[in-house]
Amino acid sequence: MTVNVLFAGRDAQWPIYEPTLRTAFANAGVVADLRMEFAPGEVDYIVYAPSGKLSDLTPYTRCKAVLGLWAGVEQIITNPTLTQPYTRMVDQGLTEGMVEWVAGHVLRYHLDMDMDICRTDREWQVHIPPLARNRTVGVLGLGELGSVCAQALAGLNFNVQGWSRSAKSIAGVACHFGEVGLRDVLAQAEILVLLLPKTAATENVLNADTVALLPKGSRILNPGRGPLIDDEALLTALGTGQVGHATLDVFREEPLPRNHPYWAHPNVTVTPHIASETRPDTASEVIAENIRRSEAGEPLLHLVDKARGY
Ligand code: NDP
Repeated sequence: MTVNVLFAGRDAQWPIYEPTLRTAFANAGVVADLRMEFAPGEVDYIVYAPSGKLSDLTPYTRCKAVLGLWAGVEQIITNPTLTQPYTRMVDQGLTEGMVEWVAGHVLRYHLDMDMDICRTDREWQVHIPPLARNRTVGVLGLGELGSVCAQALAGLNFNVQGWSRSAKSIAGVACHFGEVGLRDVLAQAEILVLLLPKTAATENVLNADTVALLPKGSRILNPGRGPLIDDEALLTALGTGQVGHATLDVFREEPLPRNHPYWAHPNVTVTPHIASETRPDTASEVIAENIRRSEAGEPLLHLVDKARGY
């Protein structure tokens, strides 16, 4: 039976995703009519990426699932018209990209790669960083991305302290949870990586109180979501040296406004939400597999718990 699949992404994404989705459908044995336009009542599945075009999902009465191309879900699942099941993107390419971004920036901080002491002073100043085994990295969020990043860092010999909502066991990673667990992680984290989703419970997880728990001069990486950080608290902590440097990929407002103090701050690196990107070929396979599962009456992969918020 043919299923009608609406591609509800940006126009520019269509020529990229159309061929990869068609190939993935064929490989998964999914017979699909894939288009950018349908009468809403005829749609069986929606492949969704925020584009601003599809805000009211009410007319999609036949739709069995909305299949997201993004890992983050805070925009779509707070849409009250989303009554259909929603799956988010967990994709091998996305995970690999995040591991590379996190490992790269952790090593940059660990090895002080930004420092250029010799050139500045023209003096042969020997600065030997500790071995990774003597450097503690905190990872807040041990989900699909955080757990793999934590394991990669552990593989580089870092002392990795992770934190999640529920108790976990990950080889090579000291796992913590709950309020006390957060304090334990922060108290040790010379480098802190934020890989939490944005929910009511995680907003401002890094605030004036929690930032004060970090060892003085800690470095922060935020590839998670902008609202995880209280920006005023971070700017104050950067000013006092409580936080030595921050590399921020995500912001409350994106693009980051031109007059935002982060742009000019000497101890902040801004990257434009590029920590990791959904890869069309592997992501299309995930979408096709979920349609195959749905049609076969099997449970969907990566179904979002709307009540939990991620
Ligand atoms: P997951 O949903 O797989 O994992 C979320 C993790 O956060 C889980 O370990 C979860 O705990 C933990 N968590 C959630 N709420 C709390 C809480 N209140 N207290 C403690 N821990 C909590 O997400 P992913 O790993 O796939 O992605 C993480 C985030 O990364 C995304 O939500 C998105 O915002 C961001 N992202 C950014 C990208 C970029 O390019 N900058 C690209 C892709 C994603 P538990 O395991 O107990 O449920």
